[in-house]
Amino acid sequence: VEPTEDLTIKMTSVEEALRLVAKHATPLAPQRIDLADSPGLILAEDVTSELDSPPYDKAQMDGYAVASHDQSPQRQVIETVAAGDLPRRAVTPGTAVRIMTGAPMPEGANAVVPFEKTKNVGADLIELPQTPIQPGDHVFALGNSVRAGQTIIRQSTILRPVEIGILAEAGRNRIQVIPQPKVAILPTGNELVAVGQTVAAGQIRNSNGPLLTAAVQAAGGVPIDLGIGRDDSDELHRLISTGLEADVLLLSGGVSAGDFDLVPDTLSKIGVRNVFHRISLRPGKPLWFGVLESQSRQTLVFGLPGNPVSSFVCFELFVRPALRQLAGHGFRGLHQQEARLSGPLSHRGGRATFRPARWENQDDPVVKIVPWQNSADLAALAAANCLVVLPAEPLQLDSGSVVPILLI
Ligand code: AMP
Ligand code: MG
Repeated sequence: VEPTEDLTIKMTSVEEALRLVAKHATPLAPQRIDLADSPGLILAEDVTSELDSPPYDKAQMDGYAVASHDQSPQRQVIETVAAGDLPRRAVTPGTAVRIMTGAPMPEGANAVVPFEKTKNVGADLIELPQTPIQPGDHVFALGNSVRAGQTIIRQSTILRPVEIGILAEAGRNRIQVIPQPKVAILPTGNELVAVGQTVAAGQIRNSNGPLLTAAVQAAGGVPIDLGIGRDDSDELHRLISTGLEADVLLLSGGVSAGDFDLVPDTLSKIGVRNVFHRISLRPGKPLWFGVLESQSRQTLVFGLPGNPVSSFVCFELFVRPALRQLAGHGFRGLHQQEARLSGPLSHRGGRATFRPARWENQDDPVVKIVPWQNSADLAALAAANCLVVLPAEPLQLDSGSVVPILLI
């Protein structure tokens, strides 16, 4: 049982906290990078094509290149042109060139008759179908897709595989994009040991570090591992200073009211401006958020709670949207859906609450609360695939009530 709320402590609401994070998470300065590194990023320039596409009149079928106005029923085949070759001979009345898809059209030809519509009637002699041949049949004309100088993709476009293909076609090996945010990760606590190490009495493994690293990667950021920080002002000062070189610094632990919770003081001493500390959220109350601003750049600092479930919930609610915004994707808020409760639910209120739960049935979503002990119960969270969103007010919900859920 958690102690009753201390009403003397000011807590920021989840909505207000989201608004404050969104306000500070401005898109990063554009950078030129390799096209190969750009999928999923936001383009930061208008891109024009330097070439016509296709760059020549191109056969769109394997067949015979002919002049559409030529009435001769039979044609002498004068040469074969493969993709990558250049035709050497012009098509004249009574002749045709055997041509493969992708090859440049020979002079004098303006249509391709596919092989399957022709008949071999002698050595290098073919018969064409009775149906009239239209100019341009099965020919992709020069510049018909894109003209040189034309804008092919506008600034602020998200680079999906299709856009990458278009940029490759246009010969753009390097492009200007909003880069991925760099996110330094610093779990703190004297009790923490790294994953590969043996746990002695009184110690626990650092699960937040790997969890947050994976979460940053999944959210499109580049994680930077700062190791584990001890509850020691000097050590924290040194590690935090390094972390402030990144676009975002994620700390975990040391932000509550304990004697060795040194993170807020250390951040203030270094000059990180606190925007809010403690929010009306369960789990996740101790969250600390601040900004270090210099003339040319800024670092967003999140002091996440030490308890792994709290840390995860705060990441999903605040850090994930912030990373999206830094990468230029714009503010989206929390993307909630709805589901019907599989059983009754008693919510005692006090703080906005995000309860681990499992939803099923795409067509008519039903959600079941996952039993869990407290915000240190990471194992219970593994059974969840969403969080049921409950308000700060107390609620008695019947089975079948529709509630908002946040997918995780
Ligand atoms: P704190 O906010 O530092 O008081 O930490 C709250 C709780 O979270 C304590 O029980 C810590 O042992 C636990 N905790 C802190 N950091 C981590 C971490 N990196 N991994 C797992 N548990 C942690
Ligand atoms: Mg601690």
